Amino acid sequence: MQLSSKLKVFIPMPDNNFPPKKDSPAEVLTGWGSLAVHGGHVKDPMYAHLVPIYASSTYVFDSAEQGMRRFDGTEEGFIYSRWGNPTIKEAEDKIAALETFQLGIEAKGILHASGMAAISTLMLATLKPGDKIISHFSLYGGTNELITKILPGLQITPVIIDMRDLQKTEDALKADPAIRMLYIETPANPTIQCVDIDELTKLAKKYNLIAACDNTFATPYLQQPFKYAVDYVVHSTTKFLNGHGTAIGGILLGKDVELMKTTMTKVHRTLGGNSNAFDAFLLIQGMKTLEVRMERHCHNAMEVAAFLENHPAVAKVNYTGLDSHPDHYTAMKQMRHPGAMLSFELKSGLKGGIDFMNKLKMCVRTVSLGTCDTLLSHPASMTHYSVPKEEKEKYGITDGLIRMNVGIENLQDIINDLRQSLS
Ligand SMILES: *Cc1c(COP(=O)(O)O)cnc(C)c1O
Repeated sequence: MQLSSKLKVFIPMPDNNFPPKKDSPAEVLTGWGSLAVHGGHVKDPMYAHLVPIYASSTYVFDSAEQGMRRFDGTEEGFIYSRWGNPTIKEAEDKIAALETFQLGIEAKGILHASGMAAISTLMLATLKPGDKIISHFSLYGGTNELITKILPGLQITPVIIDMRDLQKTEDALKADPAIRMLYIETPANPTIQCVDIDELTKLAKKYNLIAACDNTFATPYLQQPFKYAVDYVVHSTTKFLNGHGTAIGGILLGKDVELMKTTMTKVHRTLGGNSNAFDAFLLIQGMKTLEVRMERHCHNAMEVAAFLENHPAVAKVNYTGLDSHPDHYTAMKQMRHPGAMLSFELKSGLKGGIDFMNKLKMCVRTVSLGTCDTLLSHPASMTHYSVPKEEKEKYGITDGLIRMNVGIENLQDIINDLRQSLS
């Protein structure tokens, strides 16, 4: 008896507290970094400072009538965590706030289990048999597989061209009215090629296409695709948004909020590529430092590029911040800074690449990107080891090419490690 009366004290019911009031100062914030810290947050009914990890698959109804209202949408509230979850919602709202910062528009985000899950929802929700999707030839490997191997099984076929050539792109659109979506990724993984978001999405609208942009490499701090005629933005949140390499995740954002709430939500819920509260929590904490991390990443990357460019063992440096990069002007037109990713070519080829990788002391030998630590990979001996030489060359992957995610360590330590590994 005593226990149950105590329990009452311990369970402050959030009664009419739902949906929680938007008491965060997010609406009045003027700085991007402040929004990265506070955006999306709602006051927790239990007064927790940080959003709790809502590890609950279902949500209760006070009455059968409330259950009815939740299901028919007349009352906001959670029902089942594949459909939505409070921790996940905070991550979605934070990213949507950052992607639309000072644009005067709204967007809605749907968090997914991975970047690929978000991209799959986008394509399966918007394309139908007979449609075509046009894209630049340099794309993330998984996206490339999806549009060239999986979608064709559903009679959705790709048109892959060099989209840095605007005339060629327009010719392709003019020639083929079945093209329904223009899909871009800029900067692209792994080549760091950039395409012109403004010009390409103007073309997309001229030909009545859906325009989607993968903003993973830039993050909304460096580039806001919604500033242009982009309908959907996708991210692998696994990379810079999370920032610490602690969780796989992805997000699909759309600026037609109504469509996001209806069609896109329905497809997401049915395909089941939902995120989870724990990963969303890690993502939220990671994003709070996105501005300071990206500033440091980009500053270090510029300095590292300059160091490498002057090193006698290096044949070539590919960094969008250098005016030697063919996409330098495109990158600078649409990005705040040129980003944290670069690659460089060793004069000593395959053997030199392997030796260099083995000598690294602080920098980490691994694939992926977006973490605080500097990551280096050698495609010829790792990711692209089994790819035929001609195929590799098409993407500019030579035997001595090293790909680098420049981290946020102290610059001198990164340069010292590179210098001793190059010697
Ligand atoms: C990593 C990555 C993806 C895929 O994301 P996952 O989270 O690994 O599914 C998509 N696009 C780009 C540009 C990426 O770098």
